[in-house]
Amino acid sequence: MLEMIMLGSGSGGNACIVKNADTMILIDAGFSGAELRKRMELVGLSPDDLEACLITHEHGDHIKGASILSKRHKVQLLMHPATKRAGKRKFNGSERMRHFEMKETMDLGSLKVTSIPTLHDSVTSTGFLVESGGQTLGYLTDLGAVTEDNFLMMRHADYLVMEANHDRDMLWNGPYPAYLKARVDSRVGHLSNHDSAEFIAMLAELGKLKGVMLAHLSAKNNTPELALSTVRDRQEREIEIILAHQDQPSKPIVLETK
Ligand SMILES: [Zn+2]
Ligand SMILES: [Zn+2]
Repeated sequence: MLEMIMLGSGSGGNACIVKNADTMILIDAGFSGAELRKRMELVGLSPDDLEACLITHEHGDHIKGASILSKRHKVQLLMHPATKRAGKRKFNGSERMRHFEMKETMDLGSLKVTSIPTLHDSVTSTGFLVESGGQTLGYLTDLGAVTEDNFLMMRHADYLVMEANHDRDMLWNGPYPAYLKARVDSRVGHLSNHDSAEFIAMLAELGKLKGVMLAHLSAKNNTPELALSTVRDRQEREIEIILAHQDQPSKPIVLETK
């Protein structure tokens, strides 16, 4: 069995629970320590039971509560060494830390996790594959474009958490200053609904992918309806497509052991 609960996703903070019957990890800790604990309690979980917290990259919406989580709840933080260097002001040295390299496969309790490099304007940025019970979850947010390598790795996913950040027309006609529009739209910015839809369709055509949770939606340059319809309209195979929320945890996604 493999279970995923998105505690929240977007530029206001990201954190995602992935667990099986005996191991629970967190991907990103982009809320305050108190907010992380509150959201975990809302879904009947405690940060004291976390085996580890994986960090995708050093941006504040992914790392905000990492230090306090480690100190208060004795959670080991796992990140690329470059992420630790770039985020060093957010750590004081008393955290429990472990490093991983890109394309490394780690055993965290009974979960197997593989790190995947992504294109984003942080010093380095990571996606993940998490495996348990013959099921594989893919996790890809904060990327300006998908690479061939991302596709080759995500072919293994039974379920995918995938960024659908913005609608390009809304972005370019929206309120952001020009430099920020260019940043978001670049190959190291954030993924548009259209590019997300294409990537999901390519994976779905292979026949393994059962469902997708669209994540990291922009509050200013996207709407939930537009993200859903853009991705749905592009699909030729029937798969589940649902949305992550910024303000509340998602329902649990449960992948039964094969
Ligand atoms: Zn982000
Ligand atoms: Zn980011």
